[in-house]
Amino acid sequence: MKNFLSSLQLKIRQFMQGRCGPDELTRALYIAALALMLLGAITRLGLFSSLALVAMIWAIYRMLSRNYAARDAERAKWREIKSFFRDELSLLKSRWRDRKTHKYFRCPACKKALRVPRGKGTVKVTCPRCGNRITKKT
Ligand SMILES: [Zn+2]
Repeated sequence: MKNFLSSLQLKIRQFMQGRCGPDELTRALYIAALALMLLGAITRLGLFSSLALVAMIWAIYRMLSRNYAARDAERAKWREIKSFFRDELSLLKSRWRDRKTHKYFRCPACKKALRVPRGKGTVKVTCPRCGNRITKKT
């Protein structure tokens, strides 16, 4: 039995050689597939189960792929999307925490979130990212 398992392990290792293997996007796809399967089971809608299947196939395809450049590009895009949502969530938390003391707005030129103290009248703000000068009522 132990011999069989070690030979199976060797065969799997040989099969996976040169392939991308699992990464954070693959894991996210598996989690999404699992969540979609549960949703499909609860709602009895075939759409969720179909989407779960697509996510699962995409995850397996990514793991077995030998095209590192394409998979790296997908992973980079995934990180970009993930960090966008993480930043927006963090901004929401800050806005809620500082709601009585500060006012938040976005730079009209570059869309960076800016924060000014409340109750200081009209202030001129220089955007730290693009240098745009904005006049705001606080
Ligand atoms: Zn700006």
